[in-house]
Amino acid sequence: MAIGVNKVVTLNYTLSDDKGNLIQTTKENGSFVYLSGSNQILPKLEEAIDSMIIGGRKIIELNSADAYGDYDENAIQFVKKNVFPEGSNVEPGLEYMAHNPEGHAIPFVIREVKDDDITIDFNHPLAGKNLNFDVELVDIRDATVEELQHGHAHGAGGHHH
Ligand code: ZN
Repeated sequence: MAIGVNKVVTLNYTLSDDKGNLIQTTKENGSFVYLSGSNQILPKLEEAIDSMIIGGRKIIELNSADAYGDYDENAIQFVKKNVFPEGSNVEPGLEYMAHNPEGHAIPFVIREVKDDDITIDFNHPLAGKNLNFDVELVDIRDATVEELQHGHAHGAGGHHH
């Protein structure tokens, strides 16, 4: 038995790191919904959920390599304050978007601000972390034709247009 592709899957989950620190929980934001087989969640996570049944619960542990990769020191850069648009709020912890030459948006976080010198970090916020998911499978249903065309789930917890 497997969920397979083109299903709309509803989950409740709590995500914590190795030290038991809470990272995210659907208790705060409501159930999470995704379209299976469309790369919307981490592949190893989807693989582990694939064998779950409605009402079932599973602890899924992913090491950082199977999650958001290792923390990369080379993803740290130093810039001057003037690379930010005038009037920007430049404070540690804030997230911004840079654009690469192809025009893709790449998120980064401000790590440190010393007068004019800013340290920015392009690592994913969860890079280098082993992730522990406590997952409860709430519902599985066939995706509608419209959802398949759009490549995402609609309705509660999904996309609203
Ligand atoms: Zn849509």
